[in-house]
This record gives sequence, C-alpha cells and structure tokens, in this order.
Amino acid sequence: MRISPKENKSGLTNLLANVLVDLGFPSIYANLVYWARVYRIPLDEVDNILKSWNENGILEIRYALKCPKCGAYLGEYKHIDEVPNILICPMGHEISKEEFMDIIKDLDERDKLFTVLLYPTEHGKHFFRRFQKRKEEILQKRVERIISKSTLR
Ligand SMILES: [Zn+2]
Repeated sequence: MRISPKENKSGLTNLLANVLVDLGFPSIYANLVYWARVYRIPLDEVDNILKSWNENGILEIRYALKCPKCGAYLGEYKHIDEVPNILICPMGHEISKEEFMDIIKDLDERDKLFTVLLYPTEHGKHFFRRFQKRKEEILQKRVERIISKSTLR
C-alpha cells in the first residue's frame, strides 16, 4: 500500500478513512503520524483532511492531558482554551496551564503528556460506517472463498 504523489485527493481521503476505521476510535493522532511516515504520505495532506473533517462535523479533536509529576490522567479537552488555568491531578499535584504548556514544548514530554484523540461525531459515525461495511464485505468474501476451497468431503 503505497500512494503515489499523483494519487488524487479523494483516494487519500478514502484511504485515511479506512485507516481510522482500522485503528479504531478514538484514534490516536500520533499513530497517524507514524502511519504517514511509514507510507511516505505528506503529513500536511493528512492534516488537511483531518481539518476538513473537523470543520464538516465528522471528526472531533480532543486533547488528553497527563500529570507531568505522576502521569495520572488529567482529562480531555476539546480546545486548549477549555483547559483550566490550574490543573489538579487525582494525586493532588497542581500545575498551572502555563507551566504545562511550557513542559510540552519539549517533544518527548509532549508525546508522554499530551495525546491528540480523534473521535467521530454522530454524523461521522455514519460516514465511517461506510468504510467499516466495505471492510466487513471484503472479509466476508475472503471467508467464503476459504470455505469454498476447503470442500467438505
Ligand atoms: Zn500527579
């Protein structure tokens, strides 16, 4: 599965939809970054499709935060603006939003503490179901082929 640069945009859109269905929801954006790298797909093209899905109400992007002191889960936010000025983890560690943003400027720390999640909206569930169905049909055909080959004697 390698995409040529000439491959049209709808081809990449369909492929990306299939990949998201394969990854399952919520999909972790970092996994898409690895996927794009492996298949040499320009990340900005992937980002543009995700952005348009977000704008068209198909995908919701959420940011999951972890405590820099103990790694405990600090919650999910739809926008960075929603993050409270003071974050308090279940273990009682306090960190200001400003400090947190400062820490995740470091790429390693960002990977550990800041996860970008992609959720389908209600509308998006219908959109992605088409790709799920297609996958199930392909699997069904494969199973039928195997059954027909292993003739029951
Ligand atoms: Zn903590």
